[in-house]
Amino acid sequence: MNNSTLNTQHSTLQQALATELAELETRGLRRTRRVLESPQSAQVTVDGREFTAFCSNDYLGLASHPGLVAAVQEGAARYGVGAGASHLILGHSVAHHALETALAGFVELPRALLFSTGYMANIGVVSALLGRSDAVFADKLNHASLNDAALLSRAAFRRYPHLDLHALEKLLAASRARRKLVVTDAVFSMDGDIAPVPELLFLCERYDAWLMLDDAHGFGVLGREGRGVLSHFSIRSPRVIYMATLGKAAGVSGAFVAGAAEVIETLVQRARSYIYTTATPPLLAHALLKSLELMACEQWRRDQLENNIIVLKQGITKNRWNLMPSDTAIQPLVIGANADAVALSERLAQRGLLVPAIRPPTVPRGSARLRISMSAAHSAEDVGRLVAALNELQ
Ligand SMILES: *Cc1c(COP(=O)(O)O)cnc(C)c1O
Repeated sequence: MNNSTLNTQHSTLQQALATELAELETRGLRRTRRVLESPQSAQVTVDGREFTAFCSNDYLGLASHPGLVAAVQEGAARYGVGAGASHLILGHSVAHHALETALAGFVELPRALLFSTGYMANIGVVSALLGRSDAVFADKLNHASLNDAALLSRAAFRRYPHLDLHALEKLLAASRARRKLVVTDAVFSMDGDIAPVPELLFLCERYDAWLMLDDAHGFGVLGREGRGVLSHFSIRSPRVIYMATLGKAAGVSGAFVAGAAEVIETLVQRARSYIYTTATPPLLAHALLKSLELMACEQWRRDQLENNIIVLKQGITKNRWNLMPSDTAIQPLVIGANADAVALSERLAQRGLLVPAIRPPTVPRGSARLRISMSAAHSAEDVGRLVAALNELQ
């Protein structure tokens, strides 16, 4: 093959991608990134302009907390910057170790294990615990990382309609799998509703299945002192495999899995997204110890968040668009068509308010929405301005 043939082939590949990208554009599905110039908070700077943002998962307003910035600096002074190795070689620092102990205590489970991200935690857990002879039972609205995890594990992958316990029971009853795992978002990331954990646990007991809870949006927010969904429902069971992320309410980065000691030790031995990756900088673990302390002690953050949710829900009841029935920080306003959701998001931006339009495949077709996320960092006036703008634009 000469050079010109190679060039032609190359440009054909590029043309194919360009055509696919153009198609995304026509379907209103092309995504763009805004460039954030300030720290993550309620007031942000984008393109030199100031906005009030309802876009982050920083539910407690900790992402730019001065105490955490100081803890990161202290952690850097003590541990340096890079972990330099994976956990099983020599990357597991005393800061990681202390954080794992603190997290297990906080969620009241025997042992916890840190992962670099929630995505990696989900991938690691499902593929370490299950294989070809096993089965995963998943809510249809679960986070994409849980679906990817199930596919990677090679277990049979059975999805049930959102919150449909009856359908789940039928699937469990019919299964001949060696090992069964029910997986669910604890707080659904695009709808904000809370999974019926006690009922799910009851089914898992009846059909001898594990229950994996992804509490990315509940940890720090739900339960006593923000201990998460297990505390919210007062649940304790050796069948539960609990996962939560540390880049949302905890304001930093990373994730952890907690559960029975045998489960956690199996992850240490088998979870590939734990083993074959560099440990996160120990300075982050050091800062997370401080973050846990703030989460537990500063109840006013959860109170402020709850108050903001009430102001929003009471304010836009007379709107032609429907807020979904959510009591959590995730308050989706369902619009329907992709272009309409994007247009509304843009008109809010013209008024200095950033609210993201969420489109398929992140949400089902025809249910494009504004995902309003509330934070303790918002003042009641911030929420009031969003309510006024939405009522005016409807
Ligand atoms: C954000 C999120 C994750 C992924 O966590 P990261 O730490 O951001 O990788 C997993 N599950 C759910 C439900 C999430 O919302």
